Amino acid sequence: MWFFTDEEKELQRICRDFASKELAPAATLHDEKESFNLSAFKKMADLGVLGITADPQYGGAGLGATAATIVMEEFGAACAGSTLSYLAHSILCVNNIQNNGSAEQKEKYLPKLITGETIGCMGMSEPEYGSDAVGIQTKAKKDGENYIINGAKMWITNAQYADIAYVYTRTGEERKNLSTFIVEKGTPGFSVGKPIHKMGMRSSPTGELVFDNARVPKANLVGKEGDSIYHMMKNLDIERITIAGISLGIAQACVDQCIKYAGERKQFGKHLGSFQMIQKMIAEMSTETEMMRSFLYTTAKRYDMGERGPSMAAQVKLALPKMATKIALDAIQLHGGYGYSREFPLERMMRDNKLNEIGAGTNEVMIMIIAKNLLKDLRD
Ligand SMILES: Cc1cc2nc3c(=O)[nH]c(=O)nc-3n(C[C@H](O)[C@H](O)[C@H](O)COP(=O)(O)OP(=O)(O)OC[C@H]3O[C@@H](n4cnc5c(N)ncnc54)[C@H](O)[C@@H]3O)c2cc1C
Repeated sequence: MWFFTDEEKELQRICRDFASKELAPAATLHDEKESFNLSAFKKMADLGVLGITADPQYGGAGLGATAATIVMEEFGAACAGSTLSYLAHSILCVNNIQNNGSAEQKEKYLPKLITGETIGCMGMSEPEYGSDAVGIQTKAKKDGENYIINGAKMWITNAQYADIAYVYTRTGEERKNLSTFIVEKGTPGFSVGKPIHKMGMRSSPTGELVFDNARVPKANLVGKEGDSIYHMMKNLDIERITIAGISLGIAQACVDQCIKYAGERKQFGKHLGSFQMIQKMIAEMSTETEMMRSFLYTTAKRYDMGERGPSMAAQVKLALPKMATKIALDAIQLHGGYGYSREFPLERMMRDNKLNEIGAGTNEVMIMIIAKNLLKDLRD
């Protein structure tokens, strides 16, 4: 992008290089085996991206949404599953502790999360509460110097690998009465349920967090009791912008693969690329990808410049994953039977991208947010 700083351009270069060497070659294998590329994840620490938005005093890169989105795009083009796990760690856990944690909590947890010594996850969704995140029912009750947590979290990215969970709970009857705790692996009464098998993002581990009278020290309460609804809404913006970066990476990877294939595959004695219908598909896919890029990075830059708006992040989160699913399906079509086979990564990319229309708020929830803002003056 024309407005990337030199630092952002360098970040893009090192992430592209890392993704081609460490993520892309193993992506199909990890998808098939439903396994997590732990060694690549640990190596991300050497790039300085595990704490991309965290303060340098804790070892973070001190960068913003634009930089985080660059990482998502570059990693996402190579292996979206690994990138989702990276997002859960760096944006859902690290960024949340950075923005909402106390000095003691940051000092205690961020350095190890940023060097990859520990892995993070974030638990908001529950078996009965997904889109209605503010309705969550995992309860935390004060008991002397501790809080006792009971309930369950569902669909938690990195659950099985996480040492640190950033967990939303209910601490009062009022709907908005939510509080967050940093829960360490090994906490009595806290366990991880069975792994969840998925259609896509299969190299990203997903599981359940179970709290059965889990005893968490008062010192692990993030901010003040009852304050977490504000933390939740604030972090969802950067989560939605950065997850759209994964969709952009997938779309670009599909376009690149189509251009390559159109120059290799021959039918009727000619390259596919010489057929006008194929040319139209590639021209449109590439144009859509460029639209996605402009929209996403403009939004990320606006976010970094301090602009906030109720539908800013929701609009990119609605537009990009939907467009990327269409592009991935077009790419499969352009490859014919080979596109439908596992010989090419396109079917994986399509399966992976579908998650981005669901996770971090579904398309329908994004529409609700955008429409509510646009029609806020409507009386009836
Ligand atoms: C692979 C994966 C990883 C995830 N990682 C995490 C994680 O790390 N941490 C975490 O907390 N969560 C995570 N999630 C959960 C994710 O955020 C939720 O799945 C998502 O918010 C949707 O919630 P739900 O699945 O309960 O669907 P529901 O809320 O039950 O929605 C079902 C359908 O109803 C629609 N719907 C719901 N309400 C309305 C309405 N009012 N109007 C119109 N339509 C509506 C939805 O759009 C959807 O189509 C993950 C999910 C997946 C699949």
